[in-house]
Amino acid sequence: MTQPDLTGHFLELVRRASTDLRPDVEGALRAAREREAEGSAAQGALDAIIKNVELAREKSTPICQDTGTPIFYVYYPEGWSTRQLRKQIEDAVAQATANAYLRPNAVDSITGKNSGNNLGEEFPSVHFHEWGEPYLQVDLMLKGGGCENVGVQYKLPDTKLGAGRNLEGVRRAVLDAVYQAQGKGCAPGVIGVAIGGDRGAGYIRSKEQFFRDLNDANENPELAALEERLDQEANSLGIGPMGFGGETTVLGVKVGSLHRLPASYFVTASYMCWADRRRTLTWRDGEVEIS
Ligand code: SF4
Repeated sequence: MTQPDLTGHFLELVRRASTDLRPDVEGALRAAREREAEGSAAQGALDAIIKNVELAREKSTPICQDTGTPIFYVYYPEGWSTRQLRKQIEDAVAQATANAYLRPNAVDSITGKNSGNNLGEEFPSVHFHEWGEPYLQVDLMLKGGGCENVGVQYKLPDTKLGAGRNLEGVRRAVLDAVYQAQGKGCAPGVIGVAIGGDRGAGYIRSKEQFFRDLNDANENPELAALEERLDQEANSLGIGPMGFGGETTVLGVKVGSLHRLPASYFVTASYMCWADRRRTLTWRDGEVEIS
């Protein structure tokens, strides 16, 4: 089949993700601001964040100077060429870098040289999935380096945490992850958790949680209850926005699961900072929408 050239639409997807924070995240930040004590450092930090979000949208400039790793999840109908899609995505990323929607962030790990256009080995990161739907969906997140650095994986049981191979053990591991991150990673953020899988699959599934709406409820009632409890408990740790102390340490906790080997029980916690930049593009019968 002749595939459409979506390069220009992918460029717009990157621009929107980088400069225009989604309403669920902005709403959570505004609600957090109202919860903090009047005149506190926590409220001041949230005021600065919200002002920054408004200015970035108005001026079409990046919400944060670290535009992170572009991570694409591509769901394509039968018969589409992933080679063509990857090329279009890469061209859009290079163009977005030239337009300053993205900072040049791709560094050769051996030479230390920055490619200058955000292209490199597995950079951007693109995950392809063929699905049974007749339309294309491309999810993009821009994953900042500071929050990526505080992601962590636990191997249960963990005797130091008193964490066994059950949901109570998961709870203890996730709270430890939030506690260890402290002010690093630019709180308040979102915690994406994966239970099970191998080590690599755990990190991928934990990041997939970031595409969920912050206001959704997990379809699994046990995980829904765990998410709610973790959200409350993490916010009672007192770490607060940017580590200044306060009521809001996380904007949400989202938990997914994978099958695992009998020998392994991993709990993977990925951290997304307040600059929770993600957008979705759909192509259906020639019509493109970015939500
Ligand atoms: S962690 Fe997020 S908010 Fe902090 S510097 Fe990196 S991208 Fe920006």
